[in-house]
Amino acid sequence: MNIVDKKNLLKRRSELEIALINLKSKEDTLTVRDNSEQIKEIETSLELVRLAMDRLDNDMYGFCLNCDDEIDRRILSRYPETTRCKLCDK
Ligand SMILES: [Zn+2]
Repeated sequence: MNIVDKKNLLKRRSELEIALINLKSKEDTLTVRDNSEQIKEIETSLELVRLAMDRLDNDMYGFCLNCDDEIDRRILSRYPETTRCKLCDK
C-alpha cells in the first residue's frame, strides 16, 4: 500500500466533507439557490473516495477500472478518487 496515496485520499475526503457541510449549511438560508446538484456531486465523489480506499487496501489502486492501464499520477494527486484513465474517461 502506498502511504502517499492514502494521505491524498484522506485529504480529499476531508476537503469533500467540509465542502458538503458548507453547502448544506447554506441550503438552510432561504436566500441561496438550490444546492442539491452540487451536494449530489460531492456525495458521489465521497463514495468514489471510499471505493478508492478499498482498492488501495487490495493493491488495486491507481489502475483504470476499464482497461487496467495505470492512471496518470498527476491526475491522481489532484483527484485521488479517479477510477478511469484519460482514454477511458472520454
Ligand atoms: Zn482505461
